[in-house]
Amino acid sequence: MISFGPVPSRRLGKSLGINNIIRPKVCTYNCIYCQVGKTMQLSLTRKSFFTPEQILCEVNGHLEKLTADDRPDYLTFVSNGEPTLDINLGLSIEMLKRLDIPIAVITNSSMLPEPDVRHELMQADWVSLKVDAADADTWQKVNRPAEGLKFETVLDGIKLFAGDYRGQLRTETLLCKGINDSQENLRDVANIISTLAPGRAYISIPIRPPSEKSVMPPDVETVNLAWQIFREAGIETELLTGFEGVDTGFTGNIYEDILNITAVHPLREDTLMELLIKNGADFRIVESLLSQRLIRSYLYQGKKFYLRDFHVK
Ligand code: SF4
Repeated sequence: MISFGPVPSRRLGKSLGINNIIRPKVCTYNCIYCQVGKTMQLSLTRKSFFTPEQILCEVNGHLEKLTADDRPDYLTFVSNGEPTLDINLGLSIEMLKRLDIPIAVITNSSMLPEPDVRHELMQADWVSLKVDAADADTWQKVNRPAEGLKFETVLDGIKLFAGDYRGQLRTETLLCKGINDSQENLRDVANIISTLAPGRAYISIPIRPPSEKSVMPPDVETVNLAWQIFREAGIETELLTGFEGVDTGFTGNIYEDILNITAVHPLREDTLMELLIKNGADFRIVESLLSQRLIRSYLYQGKKFYLRDFHVK
């Protein structure tokens, strides 16, 4: 199947996935946290996997089977590998635009030094760029790129694309404990991202079995620190810690509101108290969430924060 879903996505609402690579996984990276396993075909060569006509035909057929309620908010290229390795990507985006649904592409950014790739991605309505590291050593450790790729060149490609792109730009930074979650890396990544000026930066953690079994998510405190550092760099930041299926925003149900908000960003104690008062609730609800380990509290710069507890097994 080339298309799947739609699946609920906090980033994109209802997203109909398009896997333009399928099997076997072909990628320019072999990330230690990859949830689709090790990269057996590490490649920097763009090639054809499906024709744009095949992709359009399958997506169109898929849409026809959906009810009006299930009509997706986005058609999203999210591949079994790196979507920009598909040499037909630009043409596929162009053809899919006939369906009148915004197009999103989630890319690892490694092909952005190529002018053709940048040009093709310009046509997408929403693009998310991976920025996990701020230096070549950390990049090698976390993303394990194909031979021939250079960190500085990729970074230049990212900057060129971000400077010209007029759609909705996002970044995603996945943090692995002890690999790219040092304060220094967080600050340097935040500095890079702030120069890209994305509409929003996402910070995520490994939530599904990673390619390397030893990879662990950072501590809650570190995730909070990352969020604080990004925010202090002036970046609109959201956490993606594994609760994609939960709608964010105010539901009027204080229990769900606290869970939804703390899944996206830390909630400062004074804001939490205001939320309780507005809802006519008291602190017992917070104590209950803490005792169920659904949220955790901790101190940052003398202030108490609450964050969804993402205890990954
Ligand atoms: S870039 Fe994406 S698909 Fe490629 S190895 Fe990394 S996580 Fe997996």
